[in-house]
Amino acid sequence: MEEERKHRQPRPKNPNGNGRREIEPKDHGSTYGFSLGCRCQPCRDASAARQAAWTAKVQQMGIAPDDPRHGTRYVYLTFRCRCRPCVEANREYLRAWKLRQARQVG
Ligand SMILES: [Zn+2]
Ligand SMILES: [Zn+2]
Repeated sequence: MEEERKHRQPRPKNPNGNGRREIEPKDHGSTYGFSLGCRCQPCRDASAARQAAWTAKVQQMGIAPDDPRHGTRYVYLTFRCRCRPCVEANREYLRAWKLRQARQVG
């Protein structure tokens, strides 16, 4: 008659949080802090700065005319490519976006 003696309590694996690493004060203002999930202003600035540096580098390198990524809005924006497929891709995107907006309003 001891069937009801199953006291199974789920044990919390991480009593001190959800497995998130503690961010140290020195990590703020770095992309490392941002990668840990911190969204304070210095961390966001660091992430934005790295993103801007990367974009500048990519733009400087330019894009080969035979790059398979032509015809995408990514190339249109990142490389400021104005070849016909890229311009078309951007136009298509804007058209779809406007349609979506119109549908949401209606
Ligand atoms: Zn931070
Ligand atoms: Zn292009």
